[in-house]
Amino acid sequence: MRRGDSYLDKLYEEAAGQRAARNAAAGPAERKGRLLEQLKASLGAFERVGRIRSVPLERVEFPDYVRERVELSVVAGLSFGAYVLLPKKPGGRRPGVIAVHGHGYGSRQICGMLADGTPDPGDTDIYRHFAVQLVRRGMAVIAPDMIGFGERMLQADLDDNPQSPNSCYRLSTQLLMMGKTLTGLRVTEMLGALDYFARREEVDPQRIGIVGFSGGALISCLVSALDERIEAAALIGFPNTFKDSVMSVHHCICNYTPGILEIAELPELIGLIAPRPLFLESGDRDPIFPAEGFRKAVEEIRSIYRAEGAEERFDSDLFPGGHEVSGRKSFDWLKRTLGR
Ligand SMILES: [Zn+2]
Repeated sequence: MRRGDSYLDKLYEEAAGQRAARNAAAGPAERKGRLLEQLKASLGAFERVGRIRSVPLERVEFPDYVRERVELSVVAGLSFGAYVLLPKKPGGRRPGVIAVHGHGYGSRQICGMLADGTPDPGDTDIYRHFAVQLVRRGMAVIAPDMIGFGERMLQADLDDNPQSPNSCYRLSTQLLMMGKTLTGLRVTEMLGALDYFARREEVDPQRIGIVGFSGGALISCLVSALDERIEAAALIGFPNTFKDSVMSVHHCICNYTPGILEIAELPELIGLIAPRPLFLESGDRDPIFPAEGFRKAVEEIRSIYRAEGAEERFDSDLFPGGHEVSGRKSFDWLKRTLGR
């Protein structure tokens, strides 16, 4: 076997066997606790600032909501912008949602804008301006800019090529050499954004959910697993098995976490959110997170929820479409779930 295909398959099967043996030897609480500790270690550690700094940048009024821009600093030496969308309709503290974009030009892409900040007059973008759809359902929304996209691309990448789509490669490879991961950095900043958002007077800290698409769903999944303040999660264009998605189809390097298969396959990682409410959504013609893997993940995660006596808190939608946001069921599900 000079080529390595079957060798890789063998390693994958061995990792699965070792996980199954470890899981069988532990009770559910012990298993979950161990998975979370291993997960934190594999993501790498980032030094956080003592108290999150926030600076208001702008405020724009629309007929039915207000859009604020704030600057936040969570990790020492780094800052980022975030949009906060607030319904105008009076209503006291309301449910809050963290809206997490994936690959593309950053938070503007989910908040109804083109890359230059001007309004996007169309409705064909794959993100469907989903942060705006959520605020129009009466929820307060925060949409932070993830590092590596839009105005958070590295200057070094822009100097090489002003048309570079993102900085995932340079960020990932350099962080890996320092025992850290780009996913870990993104998760750390998103957890800080949660701290800030939960303290806002418009937001009910007991009713905060998260919605992420694609690479943003990876971050949303991990934030939900690591922080129980997330009351409900909707993961879009991402739920699958690693084997059927990032291990079978070419994906950005930011999807690959060292040692992750020694910890869990993707359905088990997503299952860490149980028993809190969870909605999974995917397009039936998504070429990079294929429907077959989505179906397998849904079945496995449903069985995790059933084992925790929480099957009614789990739902899914395989909609007709590609790698894109639908929201045809998930957005109202989130509104109902957080509205309780
Ligand atoms: Zn990436």
